[in-house]
Amino acid sequence: MTGTGTSAATAEQTFDILVIGAGPSGLTAALTAAQAGYRTALVAPGVNFTDGRTTALLQASTDFLSGIGVWEKLLPLSAPLIRMRMVDATGRLIRAPEVTFDSAELDLDAFGYNLRNRDLNRVLEEAARAEPNVTFIEATASGFVFGDTFAQITTTDGQQISARLCVAADGRKSLAREAAGIGVNRWDYPQVAVVMNLAHTQSHQDTSTEFHQTTGPFTLVPLQGRNSSLVCVETPEGAERLRSMPRPELERELERRAHSILGKMTVDGDVQSFPLSGLTAKSVSGQRLALIGETAHVFPPIGAQGLNLGLRDVQSLGKLLAEARAQDLDPGSEDLLARYEADRRTDIVSRTTAVDALNRSLLTDLLPVQAMRSAGLYLASRVGPLRRLLMREGIAPGKFPKPKLSLPFRKGAA
Ligand SMILES: Cc1cc2nc3c(=O)[nH]c(=O)nc-3n(C[C@H](O)[C@H](O)[C@H](O)COP(=O)(O)OP(=O)(O)OC[C@H]3O[C@@H](n4cnc5c(N)ncnc54)[C@H](O)[C@@H]3O)c2cc1C
Repeated sequence: MTGTGTSAATAEQTFDILVIGAGPSGLTAALTAAQAGYRTALVAPGVNFTDGRTTALLQASTDFLSGIGVWEKLLPLSAPLIRMRMVDATGRLIRAPEVTFDSAELDLDAFGYNLRNRDLNRVLEEAARAEPNVTFIEATASGFVFGDTFAQITTTDGQQISARLCVAADGRKSLAREAAGIGVNRWDYPQVAVVMNLAHTQSHQDTSTEFHQTTGPFTLVPLQGRNSSLVCVETPEGAERLRSMPRPELERELERRAHSILGKMTVDGDVQSFPLSGLTAKSVSGQRLALIGETAHVFPPIGAQGLNLGLRDVQSLGKLLAEARAQDLDPGSEDLLARYEADRRTDIVSRTTAVDALNRSLLTDLLPVQAMRSAGLYLASRVGPLRRLLMREGIAPGKFPKPKLSLPFRKGAA
């Protein structure tokens, strides 16, 4: 707990809920709290419009965004993901078979939709600014008090803001989390994600393709038209090599790695890179404090899970806040925060573990691990119920009833 003292010169601003951070987690949390009827402060230095990444939002996330009234504005900017394909491009002795997941097998039009982070952030910001219950305070939080009955922050420009609940969405280096004394497990990967958008001559056919390289995945995700986003996970040296290549050479190299499935490629805009790391907060709550999004969990960009998990945090907290509001209960009570903690733990741990294991299975030279990964993907390619279970769990964990898997599988049971 960090105290800041009060300044007689600055009048304290008081709200029901205080959200710190205006990334997609913070923006959606502010909208959710405000729509439940809470007077909500959103405190952040601004919204990021320089992020060149795209986000694949899975079906549960688009349902949630629809519920808070923003999906209709995002859909026209998005490309559907109808099929997801995994290709073993490791060139190793033991290789996994190609697996394609098709949303039609789940009677869905699409698994989800991919869109540019800039568009996502812009639409969410516009919605937050238009929401009467949200006050956007453009400032950086620097001092924190988490008291018995309120949370209070001080900003670098001297404002004091208090609320019954503080929602920390200030990202992986969260000051709020640190001030509350919530520890983290943190680890690094020897990998860097090189990210860019591409125009190409062949249609992507609404299919996202993940080539598994020995350095990590090389994932092409559809954007509208003949465009895709690329996340290429490399060693730090490999990433540097790609980044320093002249554009024509880089484009030829990308086409080679993509096995020319999209034809000729042209890089559209900047090439950005993100060193990969992992983080799990030891608790997602503290006194008068809830952690959401990357403040609570970070892992490598495999299988489009990061923000989708963050939006499930927002949904879970939003549901508890709406219930508290309906019963006129304290939105920052110990009981509410204990229920939030209990609700989120399993989902966060299981996603982090699964993504970490898949990433490490690509990096390892151990034959038994390579064999296990290949066997898993072989079963997924051949066994219909298992494939459908993986697809369901990938897009909305725990939402669908589990099918009965009877072993041993009949030959051709898929
Ligand atoms: C290469 C790559 C590709 C990815 N692709 C996908 C994908 O396809 N699908 C998916 O679901 N996820 C994906 N992710 C993960 C996703 O990008 C993150 O989960 C998401 O951006 C996290 O959003 P956030 O709002 O939690 O945090 P951030 O976006 O980091 O937002 C933090 C906010 O807090 C603010 N802030 C920080 N400190 C303070 C302070 N002291 N006071 C006030 N404000 C503060 C910052 O200004 C910022 O606005 C990907 C990640 C990477 C690296």
